[in-house]
Amino acid sequence: MIKVAVNGYGTIGKRVADAVAAQPDMEVVGVSKTSVSAEAYVANERGYPLYIADLANKPAFDAAGIKVAGDVDAMLKIADIIVDATPGGVGAKNKSIYESLGKKAIFQGGEKHEVAGLSFNAHANYKDAIGKQFTRIVSCNTTGLIRVIHALDQAFGVERVRAVMIRRGADPSDVKRGPVDAIVLNPATIPSHHGPDVLTVLPHINIVTLAMIVPTTFMHMHSIQMDLKKEATREAVLKVFEDHSRIGIVRKDTGIKSNAQLREYTQDLGRPRTDLWENGIFEESVSVLNGKEFYCFQAIHQEADVVPENIDCIRAMMETVKDPEESIQMTNKALGFVAIG
Ligand code: NAD
Repeated sequence: MIKVAVNGYGTIGKRVADAVAAQPDMEVVGVSKTSVSAEAYVANERGYPLYIADLANKPAFDAAGIKVAGDVDAMLKIADIIVDATPGGVGAKNKSIYESLGKKAIFQGGEKHEVAGLSFNAHANYKDAIGKQFTRIVSCNTTGLIRVIHALDQAFGVERVRAVMIRRGADPSDVKRGPVDAIVLNPATIPSHHGPDVLTVLPHINIVTLAMIVPTTFMHMHSIQMDLKKEATREAVLKVFEDHSRIGIVRKDTGIKSNAQLREYTQDLGRPRTDLWENGIFEESVSVLNGKEFYCFQAIHQEADVVPENIDCIRAMMETVKDPEESIQMTNKALGFVAIG
């Protein structure tokens, strides 16, 4: 069993911990929090040993009735690999601690590519991560873009990509962020950082991205256009998506045309925390015009799509599974997800 510690038990960390616990070949040896919170109660409830950043805060945890196993240093020492899911920028500071302990660590999309030197997506570059000490999972938007670009690049070749990201304003529990009543250019300059981030995994792709933020909390919506190298048909493109284990198709017959309806759907399907781990590509939007021009809308659940990528990255770095598809299938099966559509 691979011993996994999750440093930073927040939006991403708590999902990664549950996904690790669901796998047959890995276990959660600890999760960390900085202060007393509802998530700390949940960690206790789930049976994950809870470690805290500063033992001086232990009396507050004791007073709240939350069991503390020790400090973060103790947690890091017993782990084979650490998933660092602390807020953006904190992981970069933690890197020297992992280095001094000789531990492997996975960083998240809030860190710069240079922190790990390798950015990861299971379908695109699993083998590059085999045996590595540090890897970074690209952000939620970039993961969603890479899945669909890589799939079409393999099948038809991709000449160029132009994409607009309509981004959620905040995560559902994030009461301090907005906007509440605005559409914010993010950034107003072009390109947004997402295109360059795609290049950290797929360096040969010609891509320009634009982004704005809107007042919603569940999912980003992408409007994507690609020029393909080979002629394709709508049916052939849909077949590529149907065959992809992390691309789901939001079927026309569901009547779903929004993030809100998609959320209801994942909830009704019984997905934990309503998580949509796969890209949600809207069937009706999939179009191939003039032979080589591909268009689609896709929904990307910001809290969820990077979670299975973390699990595959653990296996690659620990060198326990060398074949990407074998790991992807193991991860998906253990999570109990069959791509929608
Ligand atoms: P979050 O704020 O929800 O959770 C971070 C957790 O880290 C919190 O539990 C906090 O208590 C803990 N923490 C804070 N400082 C710490 C420290 N110094 N040491 C240990 N723990 C500390 O953040 P998040 O949204 O889960 O983001 C984590 C990472 O994942 C970031 O790099 C982010 O960019 C990336 N990411 C976030 C999303 C998203 O939509 N939320 C999507 C993809 C990637």
